[in-house]
Amino acid sequence: MLLASPIPAFDDNYIWLLRRENGLRAAVVDPGDAAPVLDRLDRDALELEAILITHKHWDHIGGIPELKARWPDAVVYGPANEPIKGLEVLLAEGDEVLLHAGDTCFKVLDVPGHTEGHIAYYGETLLFCGDTLFAGGCGRVFNGTLAQLYHSLRKLAELPAHTLVYCAHEYTLDNLGFAAWVEPGNEALKARLVATRQYREAGEPTVPSVLALEMLTNPFLRVDEPTVRAAAEKWAGKPLESGEEIFRALRAWKDKEYD
Ligand code: ZN
Ligand code: FE
Repeated sequence: MLLASPIPAFDDNYIWLLRRENGLRAAVVDPGDAAPVLDRLDRDALELEAILITHKHWDHIGGIPELKARWPDAVVYGPANEPIKGLEVLLAEGDEVLLHAGDTCFKVLDVPGHTEGHIAYYGETLLFCGDTLFAGGCGRVFNGTLAQLYHSLRKLAELPAHTLVYCAHEYTLDNLGFAAWVEPGNEALKARLVATRQYREAGEPTVPSVLALEMLTNPFLRVDEPTVRAAAEKWAGKPLESGEEIFRALRAWKDKEYD
């Protein structure tokens, strides 16, 4: 069984530590900072065999040099279409990453939008999607395009409903606040808000989430719902013709008025 545990970093990042049950070889996803990773590896007597990168932002790659200095044999995987120093294996859609002596296999998905070459890793129902899909929301567009992000989210929505979504930030409560602007009457969303507040008050992570719950509560995955369309059209002040237009309106609404 593949285990993923969060290593908190900075204010709200999660670096994901991957290992097999009882295994001593570990991989990390998006180590923006080396220190907390090195601490955890030492504490659990783990050996670092791989570093998986989703995209080029500093809070996802900053720890690479220090981790390589300590674990020179750790292989650094990352997106072929992003300029990132220190990548050793360049990945794009359809590629596979084998870890833990072949026991773990991730498929690579191209999910551009937040950045132009963002990738995600999917295996054993676990999805590591960086800053593309967040619990209750989605990433902002930096140097990809809104059209790319829309299509990337649609692609992720096709994964099995029980997929566990391991995003890279603890933004859930904030995201659900905006979701409630869009769908104030959504009962699943209300229940999720209550549960999420309880987790945060207890200091617990709200990630991973389950894709099925995202489909019920994340407005950016719900552009086909009449209630979401109506809310987006009301904000935009005009009819919106397609899912992509609704998505664009939601993203602009959140960026301009929510945070
Ligand atoms: Zn980012
Ligand atoms: Fe980030």
